[in-house]
Amino acid sequence: MRVTLHQDKCVASGQCVLAAQDVFDQRDEDGVAVLLDDNPPAEAHDDVRHAAAVCPALAITLAES
Ligand code: SF4
Repeated sequence: MRVTLHQDKCVASGQCVLAAQDVFDQRDEDGVAVLLDDNPPAEAHDDVRHAAAVCPALAITLAES
């Protein structure tokens, strides 16, 4: 799985961090999401899919492999 985070779309809601805290974080200064791991391990995939699904800005896209 490859994860892409579109920071230009992010509205800093923090939903992705709640869903998958090993893969997403938020910048201290403005809350915009930061991608920690663009190729997360298999055990994190369900959480990452959940993060992408709940992101209100559709800022997370996934390429399944
Ligand atoms: S859930 Fe989406 S909008 Fe919210 S912080 Fe994460 S990437 Fe940004």
